[in-house]
Amino acid sequence: MSWPALSIVVPCYNEAACLDILHARVSAAARAAVGDDYELVFINDGSRDDSWPAMQRIAAVDPHLVAINLSRNHGHQLALTAGLDLCAGQQVLIIDADLQDPPELLADMRRAMVEQQADVVYAVRRKREGETFFKKATAAAFYRVLDRVTDTPIPLDTGDFRLMSRRALDAFLSLPEQARFIRGMVAWVGFRQVPFPYDRAERHAGETHYPLGKMVRLAFDAVTGFSTAPLRWASHLGLALTGVSLLLIVYIAAGWLSGTAVAGWTSTMLVTVAIGAAQFFVLGMIGEYLGRLYIESKRRPLYLVADVAGPVQGTATLGF
Ligand code: UDP
Ligand code: MG
Repeated sequence: MSWPALSIVVPCYNEAACLDILHARVSAAARAAVGDDYELVFINDGSRDDSWPAMQRIAAVDPHLVAINLSRNHGHQLALTAGLDLCAGQQVLIIDADLQDPPELLADMRRAMVEQQADVVYAVRRKREGETFFKKATAAAFYRVLDRVTDTPIPLDTGDFRLMSRRALDAFLSLPEQARFIRGMVAWVGFRQVPFPYDRAERHAGETHYPLGKMVRLAFDAVTGFSTAPLRWASHLGLALTGVSLLLIVYIAAGWLSGTAVAGWTSTMLVTVAIGAAQFFVLGMIGEYLGRLYIESKRRPLYLVADVAGPVQGTATLGF
């Protein structure tokens, strides 16, 4: 088994239109950085377009490429996990397939890693081109809420685009959870992590695979994975409502004693509705955690690999 100086890991879902140019640009960046001593790990996350045939075609002519075909669409974070499991580099660059993150920054990120003696150089988005106002606004709000509620400081405006040392990666790979919010998990690992500001480009082709629903799910994974604050809020809310109902009991008793009790339909309805809503809110919160606990307790493999093209060196459990 050989350990290349650099692995570049790219999760791909319906990215056939990007793959050739992606391959050219990451290869050039890798070659400029470490000469011939690199590998590319492309993960086909159950694409419904021609991404897998395209990867096989490239793997047939480029011995640097390890192409992995997952058994179905497992989602971005698990596809990325598969690639990180399977890569063998001493340094690992994580990058999106759509070229929103310029591979040419690799040289500067490697320099930052050496100069600042860091184990993780994470790219921070200064500008985001070609994304809707809604996406940018929700992303900005999400990162700020996350920062408020989580116990692990997770850097703001940071995606998964980052350069990691082998020791940071190995530490990361020791985290077994199913609900994966990778940038948070990397932050949790610690060591020295430094920011690297850059301008995010437009997608090379195609459209985002992170519609609102998936973003909300990632946000829930992020919050519940790194914080039990919502459970605390739930109990605080319960406590506050108990206080309010105690006051109400006094008020109701006083009304009864003074004989002015009947005309109370509005307030009764308000209280019923408010308490009902609060109960659903609290129950839902508990349910979010309970559901995740259930999923974790099944200890299923995080992903399954269907096919591999190219020389595999890492440690992943292959599903065949
Ligand atoms: N991706 C994936 N599986 C999915 C969705 C996305 O592997 O189920 C990949 C996608 O091909 C891309 C990266 O994850 O390389 C980021 O996705 P996208 O560009 O759609 O997200 P955005 O940049 O819009 O947040
Ligand atoms: Mg993208």
